[in-house]
Amino acid sequence: TNFESLGLSSSLLSAIKDNGYEAPTPIQQKAIPLILDGQDLMGLAQTGTGKTAAFGLPLIERLLAEPRRAAPKGTRALILAPTRELVNQIAKNLISFLKTTPLRVTSVVGGVSINGQVKRMSKGTDILVATPGRLLDLVDRNAVDLGSASYLVLDEADQMLDLGFIHALRKIAGLVAKDRQTLLFSATMPKQINELAQSYLTDPARVEV
Ligand code: AMP
Repeated sequence: TNFESLGLSSSLLSAIKDNGYEAPTPIQQKAIPLILDGQDLMGLAQTGTGKTAAFGLPLIERLLAEPRRAAPKGTRALILAPTRELVNQIAKNLISFLKTTPLRVTSVVGGVSINGQVKRMSKGTDILVATPGRLLDLVDRNAVDLGSASYLVLDEADQMLDLGFIHALRKIAGLVAKDRQTLLFSATMPKQINELAQSYLTDPARVEV
């Protein structure tokens, strides 16, 4: 399988090539067509399998296809991840595909001053990558409006639960648009993850690598 057969547009295909990716990884082969098709998805995959691009590429494709702008304080897509390091890694990976596009990525993590994040969110963004705790701080300050986010990605969901983010996740999921597309990735699928998926995903496709 090659990237050309997955349904991505030519501008994204050239960005993938510029990034030095020659062939899609197994999770990319399985997940990209399903996400492009608009389905909710549960992915069982570890870090290092290429899962960031597996959800990032079709997400970018869909955002580019909808010529909509983010509202002030708003975001069109929200990606949640358990740690600062992972948020920064995801943002960096996404930005590497966006060079020739007008899409903006904003990341929000704890441990750094919140004021710059408040200011950066004031104009809105296309893709917000965040840790749950800091994101809720920004929501409580009325600095972020999640109501127009039509894509929600929960990355390393098992680790987010282990870190005690369940209440934050429930609160955040309740603020995001109801008719969104939701993608959940986890390295393990304990009962709690299945329960989370039952509450927040609609008839999800399941992929495993
Ligand atoms: P991830 O599992 O998303 O953290 O990705 C692990 C590493 O693999 C990152 O450095 C990616 O840039 C890289 N990567 C992802 N997909 C591909 C691919 N199809 N070909 C080559 N490298 C890739």
